[in-house]
Amino acid sequence: MTQTQQILTPPAPSRTPATTTRVTIARGDGVGPEIMQATLDVLAAAGAPLEFDEIHLGEQVYRAGHSAGIEPASWDTIRRNRILLKAPITTPQGGGFKSLNVTIRKALNLFANVRPTKSYAPFVACPHPGMDLVIVRENEEDLYAGIEHRQTQEVTQVLKLITRPGSERIVRYAFEYARAHGRRRVTCMSKDNIMKLTDGLFHRVFREVAEEYPDIEADHQIIDIGAARLAAEPERFDVIVTPNLYGDILSDIASHVAGSIGLAGSANIGRDVAMFEAVHGSAPDIAGRDVANPSGLLLAAVQMLVHLGEASIAETIDNAWLATLEDGLHTADVYREGASRKLVGTREFAEAIVARLGRQPRQLTPVQYRAGGIPVSTAEVSKQRKELRGVDVFLDWDEDGRDADGLGRCLQAVAPQGWRLKMITNRGVKVYPGGLPETFCTDHWRCRFLEEEDGVISFPAVVELLSALAERGFDVIKTENLYAFDGERGYSLGQGE
Ligand code: NAD
Repeated sequence: MTQTQQILTPPAPSRTPATTTRVTIARGDGVGPEIMQATLDVLAAAGAPLEFDEIHLGEQVYRAGHSAGIEPASWDTIRRNRILLKAPITTPQGGGFKSLNVTIRKALNLFANVRPTKSYAPFVACPHPGMDLVIVRENEEDLYAGIEHRQTQEVTQVLKLITRPGSERIVRYAFEYARAHGRRRVTCMSKDNIMKLTDGLFHRVFREVAEEYPDIEADHQIIDIGAARLAAEPERFDVIVTPNLYGDILSDIASHVAGSIGLAGSANIGRDVAMFEAVHGSAPDIAGRDVANPSGLLLAAVQMLVHLGEASIAETIDNAWLATLEDGLHTADVYREGASRKLVGTREFAEAIVARLGRQPRQLTPVQYRAGGIPVSTAEVSKQRKELRGVDVFLDWDEDGRDADGLGRCLQAVAPQGWRLKMITNRGVKVYPGGLPETFCTDHWRCRFLEEEDGVISFPAVVELLSALAERGFDVIKTENLYAFDGERGYSLGQGE
């Protein structure tokens, strides 16, 4: 349980005496340089008090031999300025190149990925004119920990890691975001009917944190029906908070429903550093032709200005951008014969926005921003009593016609004193004792051993058990200790147990 909670406001980025902020920029690959130039032109014309340090990321850096796509010195620039405005980069295929986005997010602890998605109907085709939602996606954990193993000839696994501090931080951020932006409801999406421990923790933390925000409505939806509703009735949602993988999928659904991926900007927020970027990639198919829509990066820059406390300049740019859309000046991705007035290129679109600075949209609702970063919290937790109750031993076993009863009897006989074999599962389904002959069995067996009397056991006893299994010729591929925390079971039951 959370004991005390400390709210830390993100430290102000470095400002020169004239109150300009130094921002690190990277022009990226593909359409990156074109949309970055368009964005910088609009920022300059709007009088955004920014100065820029430029770093190189992406293809040329990968090719120079930096497999992460970033030079060591660039980390210093990013960390010094604390704000990065980044155009998309191309990740070279194969060859052990890592995704730079994932590297930056994790290395700089950018735990929150914030993606606002809105309808601009009727100026951009979208069947849901009332759609105006924000997806707050956990950015570091879940299946993206990238811990994968091939354990047997037939079986591979990935570890899904959901932590209490990670869940608390993202959920609290979502509520603080809702409060700061005048939003009324936060919806949590998870699959805790199936993943009771991992997604169950995320949902439980959501319920706990929601109690601290009585002014904001809170609800939970199972991800499958939630995603279906998001696609069919996006206007029902306000703020959505969700673990990493679901957030990745939901935000693409949302931007697709809204009309074009070229319109979506995103913020990656950490306690010390924040990165702002378009949702889309480097679009190599249209690079260098002055046709890309710069709106994704421009709206990311608007989020950056709000984060920096420059709400009024953010509003001026956003409203000029809305007025440009309304006037029917559209890049190729949103252009529609009849609905649009003129097909424009990247540069002309930016010039049109500059020409409309100071104007408000007539039909679309003008934006209003409140300045400032969202508080980022850390929580202190009290230490729980942790007891070892048993061990799951995973075997690679492909003998005796994969007869689970035979395996079970053999393991019972091998187990040293103090242990009892509770069950065997195959792909999570109980096959011993009392399995069904229809259940398909792979070469991957999870054998659950508990202390004889369901009490506490010591780790040396686990080692003794493993030695006995090895002596008998079993191929132990991994073990998971079974713990209870303050008496509460910390492991799932087998299906059918
Ligand atoms: P993409 O987003 O670059 O392109 C998908 C489609 O959308 C293409 O048809 C493209 O022409 C169109 N499109 C994208 N942005 C547009 C814009 N601003 N205006 C008009 N049309 C636009 O996705 P992809 O083709 O899968 O990826 C290309 C490269 O980008 C890959 O190397 C990928 O790894 C990288 N990528 C980078 C980022 C990032 O840096 N944040 C994100 C996603 C993909």
